[in-house]
Amino acid sequence: MSHILALDQGTTSSRALIFDHAGQIVAMAQEEFPQHFPRSGWVEHDPMDIWNSQEKTARAALKKAGLAAKDLTAVGITNQRETTLIWERATGKPIGPAIVWQDRRTASFCDELERDGGGVPIERKTGLRIDPYFSGTKIRWMLDHVDGARVRAEKGELAFGTVDTWLLWQLTGGEVHATDPSNASRTLLYNIHEHAWDPELLKLLDIPESLLPEVKPSSGIFGEGAKGSVCEGVPIAGIGGDQQAALFGQACFQPGMAKNTYGTGCFLLMQTGDHAQKSENNLLTTAACQPGDEVRYALEGSVFIGGAVVQWLRDGLGIIQSAPEIEKLATSVPDSGGVFFVPAFSGLGAPHWDPEARGIIVGIERGTTAAHIARAAMEGICYQVADLLTAMDADAEVPLSELRVDGGASANDLLMQMQADLIQVPVVRPKCVETTALGAAYLAGLATGFWKDLDEIAAQWQVDKTFEPKISAAEAKARRRQWNRAVERSKRWTEDD
Ligand code: ADP
Repeated sequence: MSHILALDQGTTSSRALIFDHAGQIVAMAQEEFPQHFPRSGWVEHDPMDIWNSQEKTARAALKKAGLAAKDLTAVGITNQRETTLIWERATGKPIGPAIVWQDRRTASFCDELERDGGGVPIERKTGLRIDPYFSGTKIRWMLDHVDGARVRAEKGELAFGTVDTWLLWQLTGGEVHATDPSNASRTLLYNIHEHAWDPELLKLLDIPESLLPEVKPSSGIFGEGAKGSVCEGVPIAGIGGDQQAALFGQACFQPGMAKNTYGTGCFLLMQTGDHAQKSENNLLTTAACQPGDEVRYALEGSVFIGGAVVQWLRDGLGIIQSAPEIEKLATSVPDSGGVFFVPAFSGLGAPHWDPEARGIIVGIERGTTAAHIARAAMEGICYQVADLLTAMDADAEVPLSELRVDGGASANDLLMQMQADLIQVPVVRPKCVETTALGAAYLAGLATGFWKDLDEIAAQWQVDKTFEPKISAAEAKARRRQWNRAVERSKRWTEDD
């Protein structure tokens, strides 16, 4: 019993990673699964694809490592958040496709809810804002649109779960219906101050309580792998939503510590300890992973288009062949030549929250080249993260002293340097950038004594590279002023369409 298996169930692929006691990756397997877009704004997954791909990667990772279930101390789960599933308790059969976090089908209901004043209790109790992004309105949609679902839910025949709960149900052979606070806090139904499902919010969204899983600490025994399962007899001992798991995997345990993940989008989370810091600057308050009996909170801000702008330069504009190539192209010019690129392709997220904004490239002159555009695109990612950080610093009691980074695009040194310059605090990239899976492994390992305590884990976190700010504060400020002008020009673009 010498390893931990982390299941990392993402939006486009399922991955399984095996970690040893030093927190090193021993083996990894990954499998993509189909995305379904049945209508404009709808995004669905087949719940069985989620489970089957996850199970397959778990078996593949064990095989690669030459290990069997008996060699595992525990299993941890981390997952795409907010994605919503409902299944029959008796058979485990889903009543329909999973509605993915990106799905906008409940937008008009959200507008209605907002008009009727629902925003006030929701924000006060959940730390969120009304948006189709979160699970609550998706559950309601399923109950109202799947034949017989509401009646069956009221009879207690159905179970709701986010992806963690679905995987846990499958792994335990339908024995356990549970989740953790970091996932529960993304549903619009969980009172983060009272640590319980909230009757008023359930009523507001017309959701029967009998659907809901039990909420247990993120680190603790949830159940045991069922007979014949990939983790037969192994305790499933950790659960965390992907962004909170990454915060945990980055060992951001002290209030004021923060991480930013540079993936398709960017997710900035700051640990606020046992204090649910209310945001006055358009960020979200959310439950962080809870290592023991004490609740933990985080401030969260996300930008929709991060590394995705690099994909657009590759696939849409065709000025690079692969994502990493952007670094070389951008380095071929000393600066962006006055070009600013606001990648508001699908509106702007925190702290601007403007769904009507659209992308702009501004400041183009005769001498502008593809390299300037590439550089401006990279800066556009960093300016957006800087905007989040400014909002977070304004909310937080302690200003940020360093930013820990991870995600695919954090491999880009130039990007990380630009980030440090703009935020004027050091950017620190750890050796292990698989922080999401590592976070899930840590949660599971802590619960089973594989790792002793948070100090032992914090000691494992190692720096790969630190990027110190190289421009003056005055210069950073001047650049950000220019950026703000560009952002203003991108806002409200589709308003009069
Ligand atoms: P996700 O988990 O959201 O799928 P990843 O963490 O795998 O994302 O990161 C992939 C994203 O990072 C893609 O959008 C890609 O364009 C971008 N990316 C990958 N490598 C680089 C790089 N070297 N420089 C800039 N962007 C990159």
